[in-house]
Amino acid sequence: MSQLKTCLQCHQPFEIQDQDLAFYQKMSPTFVGTTFPIPTPTLCPTCRQIRRMLWRNEFKLYSRKSDKSGRDIVSTYAPDSKYTVYSLDEYWADDWDAAQYAQEYDPNRSFFEQFGELLAKVPRVPLFNTKTEDCEYVNYTSECKNCYMSAVLFYNTENTHYSYMAYQSLDNSDIIFTERAEQCYFCYGLTDAYSCKYSVYLTNCRDCY
Ligand SMILES: [Zn+2]
Repeated sequence: MSQLKTCLQCHQPFEIQDQDLAFYQKMSPTFVGTTFPIPTPTLCPTCRQIRRMLWRNEFKLYSRKSDKSGRDIVSTYAPDSKYTVYSLDEYWADDWDAAQYAQEYDPNRSFFEQFGELLAKVPRVPLFNTKTEDCEYVNYTSECKNCYMSAVLFYNTENTHYSYMAYQSLDNSDIIFTERAEQCYFCYGLTDAYSCKYSVYLTNCRDCY
């Protein structure tokens, strides 16, 4: 029978449906003849989604100080974040050793409490950005040049601004999910497109509007 529960985080009611219960039952592991039932969730679907997404911040960038040098850096971690954040070049420098943060595991304390302490003190990269040139405000990027305020740019994307998931794309603004787009504006889902504007799902197109 479906259950009505109250979310422990937002205190809103949510339903656990029969199909959910059947799924948890199906996924519950059995060891040596004993089944260990997976408990039903204590958080509503939205709060569960928030919890999962906390692990990946793509778009929100902050101005903050490096915890190593005090220099101003652009980072996905807020200035009041509990994490230790270095600038990219400080992070990749050889003058510090991650092993110095090693700690003994105490079996009398919660594992996650100790894991949380470790996560907070080991230095992190400010954002995911490697082998780029003039892409200081781009997160999740590699081998790109002259891009600004975008996320997930790869494979030699250049001169592309305010965009998301652009691969091998040149001279664009406001594009999403593109592969080999050039001089495009305000488009979504392009593959091999040139000089297209306000368009979605184009393949092998040019000058479309
Ligand atoms: Zn909730």
